[in-house]
Amino acid sequence: MKTFSRSGLISIILFYLTHPHIDHTRGVSVILKAPYVIKNVVTNGLEKGSGKSGQIALHRLAQENEDKIGLEAIKTNRIGATGFTNTVADPITCPGGTEPKITVLWGQSVSTPTGWNQSDFVNPNNHSLVIRVDYGKASFLITGDLEDKAQHSLVTKYGSSPLLDADVYLVGHHGSKNGSSQELIDKITPKMALIGCGQPSREYMWTAWAYGHPNKGILQRLENKITLAREPIDIQAGDGAHKFSDYTETKAIYATGWDGNVVLEATADGKWQNVNEITEPVSNLINMNSADQAQLETLPGIGEVRAKAIVDYRKQHEPFTKIDDLRNVHGFGTNL
Ligand SMILES: [Zn+2]
Repeated sequence: MKTFSRSGLISIILFYLTHPHIDHTRGVSVILKAPYVIKNVVTNGLEKGSGKSGQIALHRLAQENEDKIGLEAIKTNRIGATGFTNTVADPITCPGGTEPKITVLWGQSVSTPTGWNQSDFVNPNNHSLVIRVDYGKASFLITGDLEDKAQHSLVTKYGSSPLLDADVYLVGHHGSKNGSSQELIDKITPKMALIGCGQPSREYMWTAWAYGHPNKGILQRLENKITLAREPIDIQAGDGAHKFSDYTETKAIYATGWDGNVVLEATADGKWQNVNEITEPVSNLINMNSADQAQLETLPGIGEVRAKAIVDYRKQHEPFTKIDDLRNVHGFGTNL
């Protein structure tokens, strides 16, 4: 949530980080710099995982500016039967209007929940913050990258309350096959779903392509519950790692990998709409032979040094014809 001030600074009133994995922390370095000014930071406090440096940097910023920045690192022992909230987790006020209400339902687990084994416990995904937003009758649920067993713990804790029932579900774990259990979807009964994933054409590590996101079986599971329709869109659905097939989505499931930027709007009486509804998948493929350095830097795993190395390499060699050609660029080696 951000607001603009006359000084040109952009206030980020509230910054949530569900868990410290790199696909969730890559943006941290951007918002730590001007023109952004952060007012409140909420994390699960788990300082390990591939994105721990981003989370540690956020914590440090908040601790060094404790008079200006609210910080909460939420562990499950602070989350009661109705969830956790306070003025840091929910600093949003709307004078004269309906107040949005933000509640945290899950966080870093302090002891091993029933049914988890050691590998479940050491997996940062299972300690993701679960965040619920209510705005009048409209509601939104975010489950981070919680996997099946942690979802079972969540359903066990809240299943007899209405806290998991939401209009819009930000689909767990980017649409992974372990991110949306049937029992969880049965509790959410979403009207709409939103998937944060990339395009299958981005053939790199740590991408939708690498894992087959979103999984076709999960799309079908969601479709059985979702009540609203969308303008049909022909997309690629995941059958497994690196495997996709043609699929037509007709239910109100939106994904950043097909829809680009998705803007969902709700009214306080619970009516939702996607203000950017499209019928053709977006394409923002980056051409390795023509992209400039700034475009290359937006790719996962490619910072300033590697982007410059690609540009330099292109000046001296033939155009790239396949992804393996990148191995010849200084600084890449076999680490692709
Ligand atoms: Zn993730």
